[in-house]
Amino acid sequence: MINLSGKTALVTGGSRGIGRAVAIKLAERGADVAVNYRERADAAAEVCEAITDMGVRAVSVQADVSSPEQVTAMVEAVHAHLGPIDILVNNAGIVADQYLAMMNEDQWARVLDVSLGGAFRCTKAVVRDMMKKRWGRIVNISSVAGLTGDIRRANYSAAKAGLLGLTRATARELAGHGITVNAVAPGIIETDLTAAMEPKRAETLMALIPLGRFGRPEDVAGLVAFLCSEEAAYITGQVFVVDGGLHM
Ligand code: NAD
Repeated sequence: MINLSGKTALVTGGSRGIGRAVAIKLAERGADVAVNYRERADAAAEVCEAITDMGVRAVSVQADVSSPEQVTAMVEAVHAHLGPIDILVNNAGIVADQYLAMMNEDQWARVLDVSLGGAFRCTKAVVRDMMKKRWGRIVNISSVAGLTGDIRRANYSAAKAGLLGLTRATARELAGHGITVNAVAPGIIETDLTAAMEPKRAETLMALIPLGRFGRPEDVAGLVAFLCSEEAAYITGQVFVVDGGLHM
């Protein structure tokens, strides 16, 4: 069984959805977990309570990953409460859907800044500690949209494809330091992000999924936990699709 005891993890956007499931899964496997949130302090506190009930440590840390100052302060706070970070899951991401012809500069920049820039900033803030320990695991949550592109999502698709470039570049740079960097690309997972989908579109997409259902956050979390483990030590720079067969 995957054992992460003695490791400290930071999950960005860990208060709900996929991030919440990842934070809980890492804790189940024995890691102490820092749960980053942007606004929902109550939800982050609930995740931390669920984690401490498992007998490991947890701390909730507020930060907007689009702010370099807030990311630095977040990593310092985790360091002070739980020690140096061994595992980073860059999960925070947003959408701002619009047809390209109507997409404004803010919709473009904001999505890139959170979903891609946030991963850059958080990675930069933790790598020195990982290098000192000569051990680290970084998992970037990309998307099938980063592989196939998605209508009304030029911004999101570019950010998620950019994450794959960031994954491969950092994987190469950090390989000699015992740090692996991988990406997970979920398909359609039932979270707040997908809750607003029109029923007709949901029906159309469902018909394209060979496994016949949308994913659950736990479907993603299990793979992330594996990639963070010792068992995955020889896997780096890869992208793993979790989509019920939607994209193959
Ligand atoms: P969600 O909206 O429920 O969660 C997103 C999380 O990111 C939230 O906790 C939110 O607070 C956090 N966040 C957003 N902006 C932030 C910021 N500036 N700073 C810090 N945190 C911020 O959605 P989710 O479905 O759980 O998505 C999690 C990740 O998975 C995202 O990167 C998303 O793009 C990706 N993803 C989701 C799906 C899906 O179908 N749900 C598919 C592919 C990829």
